[in-house]
Amino acid sequence: MVHEGLKKVLNGVVAAAQAAGRAPEGVTLIAVSKTFDGPEIVPVIEAGQRVFGENRVQEAKAKWPALKMAWPDVELHLIGPLQSNKAAEAVQLFDAIHTVDRPKIAAEIAKEMRRQAKPCKLFVQVNTGREPQKAGIDPDQADAFLAACKEAHGLEISGLMCIPPADEDPTPHFTLLAEIARRNGLSQLSMGMSGDYAKAIACGATHVRVGSAIFGTRG
Ligand SMILES: *Cc1c(COP(=O)(O)O)cnc(C)c1O
Repeated sequence: MVHEGLKKVLNGVVAAAQAAGRAPEGVTLIAVSKTFDGPEIVPVIEAGQRVFGENRVQEAKAKWPALKMAWPDVELHLIGPLQSNKAAEAVQLFDAIHTVDRPKIAAEIAKEMRRQAKPCKLFVQVNTGREPQKAGIDPDQADAFLAACKEAHGLEISGLMCIPPADEDPTPHFTLLAEIARRNGLSQLSMGMSGDYAKAIACGATHVRVGSAIFGTRG
């Protein structure tokens, strides 16, 4: 079955990777299904998409257990901010968490992964634009925080994530994230959304988080 929005974005990902001289398989498309319900999500799963992103634990808990029952090979990524009192639910529900950004969250996730014997792929979110209202570790504190994740909390971090300021050219933010990842020996970069995923892929994104370009405008 074909889903037009998904097809368009998959083609766009392949084109951007090829333009950057990269293998398209090196870029994972995360279909961001926040605010959309089962009837809108199912056609995207039936078209073959298996990696999805949600930004709220409660919303994901309401709609994904049933979908995961029907399609057990679906992978679910948390891309929104995490409160420490939701860490247990997040570790249970999600296969990856992109928003590790402070010691308390790192400690809670580590505790829950041990308690539930449930591994999660982890990304540290970096606030590349140093926006006060935005989650993420300050770029200047990223190296120390990454070391603490490993040494104090025993966490294996796979990569970094950022959300550039809405009104700026995203490329310097993608470049900064890639540089912090490189000097910390991290290979994965979660960056790029509907409007800028091609630029993110040019800067080395391994995971692009695309919602509206697949599902349509959010209500
Ligand atoms: C909503 C969201 C996206 C997807 O945004 P679109 O512009 O709809 O592609 C990506 N990343 C995060 C963190 C989001 O909250």
